[in-house]
Amino acid sequence: MFRAMTNDMAVLADKILSGDRRALARAITLVESGRSDHRADSNELLETVARSSRQALRIGLSGTPGVGKSTFIEAFGCMLTAQGLKVAVLAVDPSSARSGGSILGDKTRMERLSREPNAFIRPSPSQTELGGVARRTRDAVSLCEAAGFDVVLIETVGVGQSETIVADMSDVFVLLIAPAGGDELQGVKRGIMEIADMILVNKADGDLKHTAIRTTADYAGALRLLRKREGDPEGFPKAMPVSAVEENGLDQAWEDLQNLVQYRKDSGFWTARRAAQAARWFADEVRQGLLRKLQSDPRAEAAMAELAEEVAKGIRAPGAAADDVLRFLRSGDPDQP
Ligand code: GDP
Repeated sequence: MFRAMTNDMAVLADKILSGDRRALARAITLVESGRSDHRADSNELLETVARSSRQALRIGLSGTPGVGKSTFIEAFGCMLTAQGLKVAVLAVDPSSARSGGSILGDKTRMERLSREPNAFIRPSPSQTELGGVARRTRDAVSLCEAAGFDVVLIETVGVGQSETIVADMSDVFVLLIAPAGGDELQGVKRGIMEIADMILVNKADGDLKHTAIRTTADYAGALRLLRKREGDPEGFPKAMPVSAVEENGLDQAWEDLQNLVQYRKDSGFWTARRAAQAARWFADEVRQGLLRKLQSDPRAEAAMAELAEEVAKGIRAPGAAADDVLRFLRSGDPDQP
């Protein structure tokens, strides 16, 4: 087939920039594709749309299953679209990375929001590694920004590394938790508290309202004990009760987030944070590219497996063994340094 790919990508880029949601979905599928022949196209597309320099507010959102993430995002998203804002929802699902199944993407979620013409919802890409999911999601965020979305919500489940990954692609990070007794506070890892800008205690309604308010006070106390972070105005990070079902507290949370963002923009922290994130992203891409290159060489892969075993047994030192593998990158042959 003789067709100028470049032209195809230029057309697709134009459609994305004009806010065409179908073109956006198609572009995300392209960047999610692991096929090497799609890579040149998706790189070209991403560089073209990046020139628009449009920026959305990227909000990372995490919470354990059942805490009310979908309910919250639906209510919060609809509140924003009602204000005339365009909202995109992306997901980083660590379970899809592990098992190919999904805890975030499969259920019918956010039906009301998905019917909104100003909303765009995309489930997590399924990949074998969390690193791959993260990378595709970062690209999807860039595409959504180019398509003119005002807010991009990036959702993840509160397990392991995924929260840190999502926080690192967000401007602000929100943690959703459930009302619970005092000892539950221990359940939220200190590291997660440290990256949260806002802790929302959901389900502050009905019988749970009082517990939620107590839980909020516990978290507010715990947050005050953390050391002051650069880029935080007075009162942040903060904890507050919300009810996603009754849609209570969402407007307050939005107002507070906007104040936080304005403060960070005024102080230059916003720009510095994005620049640092982009630099880390770049380094990460290089690292992953090198690893892919090694893994695409069967001899290098076999050597890696063998060396990993020897390192595990203590026969080889990790650094020296890694040097052996890295020689493949230079000569294609580990015996030729
Ligand atoms: P997710 O797994 O974090 O996405 O949680 P869901 O949004 O699916 O919600 C899990 C359950 O909690 C559902 O039965 C919701 O109806 C319920 N839920 C979510 N938000 C609230 C809330 O604000 N108040 C109450 N009482 N229940 C809620």
